[in-house]
Amino acid sequence: MNSPVPSLQVQKPRIDRIFQMQFDFQYELARRTARERLARLDRFEQVLLRYREEIKEAMRLDFGKHPFEVDMTELFVITHEIRQYRRSLRRWLKPQPAGTPLHLLGSRSHILYEPKGLVLIMSPWNFPINLTFAPMVSAIAAGNCVILKPSEVSRHSSAVMEKIVAEAFEEREVALIQGDVQVAQALLEKPFNHIFFTGSTEVGKKIMAAASQHLASVTLELGGKSPTIVDAGANLRQAARRIAMAKFANVGQMCISPDHVFVHRRVKDAFLSELVGQIESCYGKQAELEPSYARIVSPAHFRRLDELLQEARKLGAKITYGGRTEAGQKFIEPTLVTEVPPQAGLMKEEIFGPILPILTFDRIDEPIAFIRQGAKPLALYIYSRNRRHIRTILAETRAGTTAVNNSAVHFYNTQLPFGGSNASGIGNAHGLFSFFEFTNPRAVYDQKWPSGLDLLRAPYGKWRQKMADIALRWL
Ligand code: NAD
Repeated sequence: MNSPVPSLQVQKPRIDRIFQMQFDFQYELARRTARERLARLDRFEQVLLRYREEIKEAMRLDFGKHPFEVDMTELFVITHEIRQYRRSLRRWLKPQPAGTPLHLLGSRSHILYEPKGLVLIMSPWNFPINLTFAPMVSAIAAGNCVILKPSEVSRHSSAVMEKIVAEAFEEREVALIQGDVQVAQALLEKPFNHIFFTGSTEVGKKIMAAASQHLASVTLELGGKSPTIVDAGANLRQAARRIAMAKFANVGQMCISPDHVFVHRRVKDAFLSELVGQIESCYGKQAELEPSYARIVSPAHFRRLDELLQEARKLGAKITYGGRTEAGQKFIEPTLVTEVPPQAGLMKEEIFGPILPILTFDRIDEPIAFIRQGAKPLALYIYSRNRRHIRTILAETRAGTTAVNNSAVHFYNTQLPFGGSNASGIGNAHGLFSFFEFTNPRAVYDQKWPSGLDLLRAPYGKWRQKMADIALRWL
């Protein structure tokens, strides 16, 4: 399990060979019916579940993720996605009839959802299995050849995924290529038809620049800060329970984890004490002893978080709860920080760890103004019983997704689009929305009967001008 990440030198000939193979095979693959595509997904699911224990071990080695979280936040997401395609793919693949305007009488039109062709899926380390295989399921269902490039940071998970892919697919349909940034760059030089990238906003910009060289379309599932508002009338115990769950699962290494909380000044103390209660009921007073509490993925990621915390302290922030860190174990206690000044890194960078700044407000337009100043969040959470406040926040802010009176669980509703907006992402994942990302809606216009427009060819005399007048007025 400890094999090093393969170098560019090793992977370059493989990249060239597999890309060419997939390029040659793409039309044959696209001819597969919905039944045949689903049969491939069934086989993949069987192989995936056969590796269930090995995946859990790999994720324990990568960052101490608890086996229960592996089941519920990695494997379930994939099996649920496959289930949705089983239910709907036949319907989605059918040509969709389009209407005919009066001036085109004599024709029929429809939309064909054709595969984009060759797809590159690049994934991050924080939910390595889920974020590699869930988009792959959609890409296969849509009829594409796929190359997967998982993160080099979660290398144990990547190694197991490589075995799963090799068992479930032929290389000419789906292949997984492990490697570091150089390997990623070599892949990006290939003229893929679509790139589905999940990762940081900074790298997302590089992916888009690389895609522009071949005018590949992109789906960018990026990160950013996900603010959470706790209104004065909110059910504080429930809010604290749900925020604690979404913030400290995977130790906050989650793109839609609440990044910071705005709580109404009147209920701040009550909320803080509920939050501490909820943290301790999940992880006890010594989270390092609780197996459900994961670790930071690497020493470098640990250092970044530790430095953010120290810097905030120096700038006058108060550690209200937690704050203990242990470099050897890459452990950071669930930590609540108050009075964080706006210039602190904690308020500028995506935190992506178990540190939660708590800010206060008096009027609902204060958090709204703060959110508007920053990049559009991937997720914005509202805890409130005041429907007017909820409507106001929804109308006066922009975000990729929003959950009301809960956090992060909206990811599980595959009937909803999942994605960001501008800096937090472009395009959407899940179910039908993923299917759209991986297909091109090809317009097919069929001139079945004589066309009235034939009469409008040059030279354009008076009669034709009359027709133009009628068109402008009535059609
Ligand atoms: P990352 O951007 O560092 O890496 C993601 C992928 O890009 C990896 O496969 C990596 O090998 C590759 N990569 C890194 N640098 C590259 C470069 N210069 N050129 C080409 N490829 C490169 O992200 P990460 O640290 O693995 O993941 C954490 C980030 O991902 C956070 O910002 C988080 O919010 C975001 N994220 C977003 C979602 C979402 O669904 N929107 C989900 C999970 C994580």
